[in-house]
Amino acid sequence: MLTDLKNADVKELSEVYDSENRDSFISLYLDMDSLDNKFVERRKNSCKSVLEEDKELLENFENTMQLIEQYLNKSGREKGQQGLAMFASNIHDFFRVFKLGMPVENLLVVDTSPYIRPLARLVDEYEAFGLVLLDSQRAKIYVVSSGKVGYKKKKATDIINKHKKGGMSQARFQRLRKGAIKHFLKDVAEDMEKLFSQDEVVKIIIAGSGNAKIMFKNILPPNIKSKIVDVIDMDFDEAEDRLVSKAEEIVLGNEKATSERNVSRLRAEILRNGLAVHGLKETMEAVINGQIELLLVSKGYKIRGWICEKCQVVDSGVKDRCPYCCSRTSGVDVIEEIIEFAERTDTKIEFVGDNLTLAELGGVGGLLRFNLSIS
Ligand SMILES: [Zn+2]
Repeated sequence: MLTDLKNADVKELSEVYDSENRDSFISLYLDMDSLDNKFVERRKNSCKSVLEEDKELLENFENTMQLIEQYLNKSGREKGQQGLAMFASNIHDFFRVFKLGMPVENLLVVDTSPYIRPLARLVDEYEAFGLVLLDSQRAKIYVVSSGKVGYKKKKATDIINKHKKGGMSQARFQRLRKGAIKHFLKDVAEDMEKLFSQDEVVKIIIAGSGNAKIMFKNILPPNIKSKIVDVIDMDFDEAEDRLVSKAEEIVLGNEKATSERNVSRLRAEILRNGLAVHGLKETMEAVINGQIELLLVSKGYKIRGWICEKCQVVDSGVKDRCPYCCSRTSGVDVIEEIIEFAERTDTKIEFVGDNLTLAELGGVGGLLRFNLSIS
């Protein structure tokens, strides 16, 4: 079964680390459509040659890779699966697999903790959405979550045969027909509301041919109407995967617009000296203090730094030994560490695509829940 990826999964991973700063976790992301079938082998050999000086680490790496390869050999590809994410460590007896309905890039990382950035990004970008396809007498309601289509409900009514009677005037028939359509659409709206509230759907797309979709939109209560992202023209008999991929495209576009709006909010808050931080140092502090309501991160941005998992201290630059406890540190991408802290403190993360404003603000920033310093 495809994984229904939830924020709680990423949070669980963010809480796992090697307390002795050993590079004992392997994180593997695989693009299922990738033609590079030597990827794992190549990365395995590179990492092995680096780990050779440390017997214990090398042994853990080899044992962990063996578990991973055993899994890869025996498990097939699920219907609709586009990616795979695995996190494993033999000495920690840790093994997690996510079969993803969303695309990821090939990546194999050896680190002191699971590398969660690509997964956190998927959670941000692929929010669950509701989809209603209808015409005047048929409807299908779906919830799409993590690229996985939950086919939820199908409804139909036979308006013509129910009302068409011999000798009936055209005008009377049209009136009855109109009433029946309205009644049917109300019925669909009720079902939809029930289903979408169960799944906590925050975005809705309405699709269909002709007028029914507009009538439908107009009868919806304001709290539902405000969740509608788009109303699109679509034949009722359109193939399901085409319908879903079109809807997905729209939702991704909407998510992009939202992240740009949030960068504008950040900028505005900074200008009026409001509840915001930006740049590596300020943002890291605020994340650790649990002050951030929304963390904004440039998608491809990385900063070389170090971590002491024992003291839970992270900083940019290079340091072999922790200045507080003198343990050996581990080299990290500081942005990944900020993301891990954010996950642990239930901070919402927004991944922002190419955006000059955020880049100029240091590639990372946050809108604050509260301000600690009273000045
Ligand atoms: Zn330390």
